[in-house]
Amino acid sequence: MRILVKNRAKYWKRKIGKTCDFCNLSVIKDQEIKKLSGKHWWVIAAKFPYLNGNIIIIPKRHVVDLNQLTKDEDMEFPVVLKKSLKKLGESFKTKSFNITLNLGPDSGCSLNHIHWQIVPRQKINPNSQAIFNGFVLVTMDYKDLKKKLNK
Ligand SMILES: [Zn+2]
Repeated sequence: MRILVKNRAKYWKRKIGKTCDFCNLSVIKDQEIKKLSGKHWWVIAAKFPYLNGNIIIIPKRHVVDLNQLTKDEDMEFPVVLKKSLKKLGESFKTKSFNITLNLGPDSGCSLNHIHWQIVPRQKINPNSQAIFNGFVLVTMDYKDLKKKLNK
């Protein structure tokens, strides 16, 4: 399966500022799924999704190493994750997910502020309009996802 993401080119061309995007409240507020965020964790709709339904879970503080998480952040993470998976599962009618964390400068992460990528996975329907010749199209904009998951 190959995935065609129309916004991914914009992702690689975007200007990376000196400040952290995940510490920028206007970036967060634009993408936040309030219904899923916790006291210590933001849940946002990915602006440059790998697949439809891609969300990101981010500590509200600038944290670059798992050992920097406080006890409260550690305790709340599985709660936010489970709530997010439940909502994604209902919304995308699946029990399958990819949950990814890239850690460290050589892991391929573009922002060192730790963040979990959560992607719901579905059986590919060969009759779907989102698939063409082995390519899967990402058809959902982050604002549509935000609206869908805030219901
Ligand atoms: Zn940050």
